[in-house]
Amino acid sequence: MPLSDIQDRIAKEEARAGRAPGSTKLIAVSKVQPLERVVAVLEEGHRVFGENKVQEAAGKWPDLKERFSDVELHLIGPLQSNKTRQAMRLFDVIHSLDRPKLARAIARIAKEEGHCPTLFIQVNTGEEPQKAGIMPDDLDGFVAECRDLGLPIVGLMCIPPVDEEPTLHFALLAKMAARNGLDQLSMGMSSDFERAIAQGATHVRVGSAIFGERDYG
Ligand SMILES: *Cc1c(COP(=O)(O)O)cnc(C)c1O
Repeated sequence: MPLSDIQDRIAKEEARAGRAPGSTKLIAVSKVQPLERVVAVLEEGHRVFGENKVQEAAGKWPDLKERFSDVELHLIGPLQSNKTRQAMRLFDVIHSLDRPKLARAIARIAKEEGHCPTLFIQVNTGEEPQKAGIMPDDLDGFVAECRDLGLPIVGLMCIPPVDEEPTLHFALLAKMAARNGLDQLSMGMSSDFERAIAQGATHVRVGSAIFGERDYG
């Protein structure tokens, strides 16, 4: 689907939900996609992209950032502690802060580097054992801990369980963010970004609907 169709759908949903026009940021999730598809979207003028692996992003984005100015890069996948510094140099925004140890590592490296990406805390709203994210009951304490460390936390992120209605998870995330004085919400993917916008998403992460299905072959 052309990028402009996704942008139209976002604008329509913002209007329908009574949200301000342009209040939703579209993150084009370029993981695994062939380079020519990513370049095509850059050539259309889009500049906000998401990747879920540090290594993969490090392989393609330094070059693309030289060819295209003002790229804003978002890490949306789990971050291993040993890749923290590399991720903090490469990404403008990290959506997957999900444990105290990582928070402490980011705080330490931010002091050394004199720079810290903008951060979202990932919440495991479905309390799925295999999924990353802070458990809902631990969230308020973790937000306080991150603030004590001086981390630039701006919002919450979630990936709802595949077999459940996502709206309930989006609503829960919005409630937890409001309770903690956080005003940004990273939620909604190709199949449910309109429902996420209706619940207040400020960042939607859309991959296959823009680029086509990912070929992991
Ligand atoms: C891959 C991915 C997306 C995009 O998924 P699509 O269904 O292709 O839109 C969004 N968020 C995260 C965390 C992802 O890993």
